[in-house]
Amino acid sequence: MKHSVDEVFGRQVRQMISGEVFFNEPMDHHASLGVGGKADVFACPENERELVGLVGFLVERGIPFYPVGNCTNLVVRDGGYRGVLISLKRLQGLEIRTDSVEETLLYAEAGVSLARLTEFALQESLAGLEFCAGIPGTLGGALRMNAGAWGSEMKDIVSSVRLLAPGREIEEIPRSRLSFSYRNLDFSGGGVITTALLALRRGRRESIKARVEEITAERKKRHPLTFRSAGSVFKNPPGTPAGRLIEETGLKGLRIGDAVVSEQHGNFIVNTRAARADDVIALIEIVRRTVKEQRGIKLETEVVIIGDEQ
Ligand SMILES: Cc1cc2nc3c(=O)[nH]c(=O)nc-3n(C[C@H](O)[C@H](O)[C@H](O)COP(=O)(O)OP(=O)(O)OC[C@H]3O[C@@H](n4cnc5c(N)ncnc54)[C@H](O)[C@@H]3O)c2cc1C
Repeated sequence: MKHSVDEVFGRQVRQMISGEVFFNEPMDHHASLGVGGKADVFACPENERELVGLVGFLVERGIPFYPVGNCTNLVVRDGGYRGVLISLKRLQGLEIRTDSVEETLLYAEAGVSLARLTEFALQESLAGLEFCAGIPGTLGGALRMNAGAWGSEMKDIVSSVRLLAPGREIEEIPRSRLSFSYRNLDFSGGGVITTALLALRRGRRESIKARVEEITAERKKRHPLTFRSAGSVFKNPPGTPAGRLIEETGLKGLRIGDAVVSEQHGNFIVNTRAARADDVIALIEIVRRTVKEQRGIKLETEVVIIGDEQ
């Protein structure tokens, strides 16, 4: 979309957004994996009002856009993204809305990190978010991915989501109308999650803290956290976890450029220095092909891959 970065367009976007706006922004600066080509525009609206204005403007002009959180599950191909990546990271509202014996509703904006949410819940003695300890994404990304660990997923704690769908007013969607599946929340036609209400319950702070510490320690033991990564690359197929399948097919340690199938955990691809998105994607393809040939199982990626090839 060569026209997206012309001067007039740039000026218009800057007028709409009081937060940061970057042009030709290298996505390796933002992605936890440290790879990725340039986005034409990387815009960070300060609040929901600016977000609504920006999305309306882009929809009207037919300019592609894509929401991102902390980019911890994202690979932008080396050819970059033609359009506007809208980062929700400035939307940081967080408060308790309703408190009763049965349930506490926690209101949070999409850019709040799971780390902040987990810490807030711990300080308030609210149970239910412990499984999120150590997942490095934002609330918006976690909802879209139906992030999960240790037997729980976002779908278990969400009460409602506010969604800005292209060409529509913001709509509050209750849990009963949200279509969650394994590592996915499906909203046909796309959209941007702006806020959510999470249903938690009062608990004992010591037991919440103990669970968070246990999970954090377990993650340190199992995951290659000293390297840059995007977490699990593949979804677990029914039966055997993807990491074990990859280990059993002898692919641990396989390297292309500086991208390596982690020796510690087969389902992680790590960036050991200056990997490129192409290296990561080439490794993904080799792993997929090998597991299919040797075990007859088709692995699907959990990481989201967007953008153009170089
Ligand atoms: C070390 C490590 C460990 C991890 N462990 C886990 C784990 O245990 N379990 C797990 O599930 N994941 C895990 N992940 C993956 C990742 O952290 C989660 O999927 C996380 O929830 C993604 O959030 P994000 O803000 O980084 O999303 P991004 O990577 O920025 O985006 C991911 C997807 O969400 C969409 N999205 C982001 N924000 C919004 C929004 N506001 N509205 C609509 N769509 C949006 C994007 O368009 C994209 O499709 C791990 C990652 C790392 C690096």
